Amino acid sequence: MQNRQFHPESLMMTFGYKPELSEGAVKCPIFQTSTFVFKTAEEGKAFFQVAYGQREKQPNEELGLIYSRLNNPDLQILEERLCLWDEAEECAVFESGMSAISTVMLEFLRPGDVILYSKPVYGGTDHFINKVLPEYGIHGIGFTNSQSAEEVIQMVKDAGLASKLKMVYVETPANPTNALFDFGICREVADKFSSAEKEVVVVADNTYMGPLWQHPLKHGVDLVVYSATKYIGGHSDLIAGAVLGKSKHMKRVRTLRTFLGNMAGPWTGWLLMRSLETLKVRMTQQARNAVEVAGFLKSHPKVGKVFYLGHLQPGDVQYDIFKKQLSCAGAMVSFEVKGGEADAFVFLNHLRLIKLAVSLGSTESLAEHPATMTHCDVSEEDRKEMGISERLIRLSIGVEHHEDIIWDISQALERV
Ligand SMILES: *Cc1c(COP(=O)(O)O)cnc(C)c1O
Repeated sequence: MQNRQFHPESLMMTFGYKPELSEGAVKCPIFQTSTFVFKTAEEGKAFFQVAYGQREKQPNEELGLIYSRLNNPDLQILEERLCLWDEAEECAVFESGMSAISTVMLEFLRPGDVILYSKPVYGGTDHFINKVLPEYGIHGIGFTNSQSAEEVIQMVKDAGLASKLKMVYVETPANPTNALFDFGICREVADKFSSAEKEVVVVADNTYMGPLWQHPLKHGVDLVVYSATKYIGGHSDLIAGAVLGKSKHMKRVRTLRTFLGNMAGPWTGWLLMRSLETLKVRMTQQARNAVEVAGFLKSHPKVGKVFYLGHLQPGDVQYDIFKKQLSCAGAMVSFEVKGGEADAFVFLNHLRLIKLAVSLGSTESLAEHPATMTHCDVSEEDRKEMGISERLIRLSIGVEHHEDIIWDISQALERV
C-alpha cells in the first residue's frame, strides 16, 4: 500500500477528528463545555505543565484538554484543518479578524517600537495602528505599492526609525482596488532591519485571497492573519479570525490569546468546520462567476474603470506580482459607474438580487460604496491617491448563477 498525500479539500470532512472519542458520531459534535474532567490529579498536573510552558511536550504527547479558554476540540480540530491550506505549523482561531490582528500586534510590538504597514489597509486595522497603538507608545508608518524595497528602506532610515522597526504588516490585494504588494519587498525590508537581538516579523492579511488562492508563508511571510468572517466562514453568519505561522511565533500568539481570552467559542468553531468542507467549491464557483461579471462590466458603456486582477496585462509590474503570488484572480470586482455619487447610489438602490451590504466572501453577492461606507474614514487625499472615487462600487461575487448576477447589474445600470 502506498501512502498518499491527500489534497486539503479531501481532508476537510475528517482530518483530526476521532469518531471513537465521540460515540462514533461521523461529525465532530459541538463541545459546548467550559471545562474538562481529568482522569487523575497527576494527569491534570501534566496538562498544566505543558499548557503553561513549564515543560516541552513529549514527542507523541497531545495537549490535554483543560478549559475552553485554553483549548476545546472544536477549535483544535478546526485549527489543524486550517493549517493544511497554508501548510502552516500552527494556527490559532479568534473571536474576530480584528482580535487576531490586534493580538499579533500587541504580542510582537512594545512601547517605542515601529510598525511599517502597507497603505491602504482594512479600516479597523488602520484605526488600531493609528489611533490605538500610539496610546501605548507604538507608532506606524505607511508604504505604498509604488515604492521599491530600496525606497522603503531609505524612508525608514530617513525617519530615524531603523533601530525601532519591529514589524512589516501587509495587506494584499488591497481593498477595494485590488492593488498588489510584493511579499519579496516586505521580506527584504524586514531582513534589512533584523539583527541577532531584534527580529522584524512580516505579517500578511490574506483575507481577500485566502486560504485558497494565495499562500504568503511560502513567500517569506512569518505570520498570516485572516478575517474568517469572509471566505473561510463564507455564509455571512459569523464573525471570526485566524492566525497561522511557525510554532515559535504561534506559541507567543496562543499564549497572549489565552490571557486576553479572545479565542472563538465552540459553536463558532463548529460552524467554521462546516464551512471548510465547501471552501474550495464555493471559492472556485465565486471566482468563475467573477470572470463573467468582470468581462461584462468591461464592455458596458455606463462603466468606467474596472478593478479586477484577471484583467492585468503582461508588462505591468502588478501582473508580475500576480503571476508570482496568486493562483487565481479572486472574486472581488470593483468598478466605476459613469457620473458621481448620485449615480452610484441609483445603481445600488436598484439591485434586486445582489444585496447592498459591506463584508465580502460569502455565498450571496454583495455590493457597497467604498467612499461613503467601508472607506469613509480615509482622508479625501488618500482616497484620491488610491483611486477610491465617488463613482466606485465594490462587488463581492457569490455562488449564484452568473447570468442572474449579470442580469441584476445590467438592469440596475440601466437606471443610472
Ligand atoms: C473584514 C476584514 C477584517 C476584520 O475582520 P473582522 O472579522 O470583521 O474582525 C480585517 N481585514 C480584512 C482585509 C477584512 O476584510
